Amino acid sequence: MEHSSEDPRVIDPASQGYTGARHLEVHFEIASQCGLDCRHCSSESGSEGEPVRLDAESIARFAESLGSGLGLYISLTGGEPLTSGQFLQVSQALRRVGSICRMGFFTSGCIVTEAGMRRAIDHTSALRLREAGIDFCYISLYSHLGAVHDWVTRVPGSHECSLRSIAALLEIGIDARVHFVPLQQNQSDVGETISFLDQMRVPEVRFLRLVKHGRARRQWQLIGLSRHEQAALLREAVRTVDESGLSIEISAAGFPELMDCRPLGQGRLCQAGISLLYVDRDGRVFPCACKKRDERFCLGIVGESEILRKVRSVRREHNLKCLQDA
Ligand code: SF4
Repeated sequence: MEHSSEDPRVIDPASQGYTGARHLEVHFEIASQCGLDCRHCSSESGSEGEPVRLDAESIARFAESLGSGLGLYISLTGGEPLTSGQFLQVSQALRRVGSICRMGFFTSGCIVTEAGMRRAIDHTSALRLREAGIDFCYISLYSHLGAVHDWVTRVPGSHECSLRSIAALLEIGIDARVHFVPLQQNQSDVGETISFLDQMRVPEVRFLRLVKHGRARRQWQLIGLSRHEQAALLREAVRTVDESGLSIEISAAGFPELMDCRPLGQGRLCQAGISLLYVDRDGRVFPCACKKRDERFCLGIVGESEILRKVRSVRREHNLKCLQDA
């Protein structure tokens, strides 16, 4: 399943606001809390949460320093970034950074309030996000079936919330896409899930490889799929799109031998540390989220004098393997 630049499943960088400069994706972890309790969560995010030391000004300064000659694609992540008291502050601070092409966030689409109420992103909050400069988001959805999704998140009603959030975001023009994690419970009807999302006019489903970290390690017998089984599901999703003539695009993180890992079309195979950086809640910079708890991969800390030299010292065009397999 080698992809060429003409392959319609590869997202066209021009349609993503890509300007022709070399691009760099940077993910900033601005929250550790999350109201859901997903069985596979590698961050083990929960309602308590750890302190977040990364603040809006250091995020904007770091983004600015990475800037020149690069088109930046920023994603705010967590935990659930929408529970961060500084979400709007961070996006406002980032708006002054000239080299940013697009700004987005990763969310469950289901906010659980302190009183335990579930809340979707409604029309008004979606408009507020757009005004804050948000262009895109990826919402986690584990099945078209509410029972399966809610079993994974362990929050009844979370599926309905996530669907309402997707609809509200798409309606006001935020480019809402889906993150999907292959699990034992959603493998048998992956085709139906893809078709369902295509009908909702979701432009892309991005497969995130399930890794044996955090909660997933403890739940592995119950939910885990081998790398080979996950790759087979990814192939099946692509086949569904091809055979049914769907317009939804399939991308994947963590399977560079099947599909270039980053969705912006320029970088080949694994782009960890090359066109991708992950900054954790303590400001530590890693080549990719999949190695965010592994000190051996830490490139340095936002704000330290050597960080840019360390980041730029990565001169490769690509890594052959996902860092999870290296
Ligand atoms: S290490 Fe590379 S292939 Fe693996 S998820 Fe990160 S960018 Fe993708």
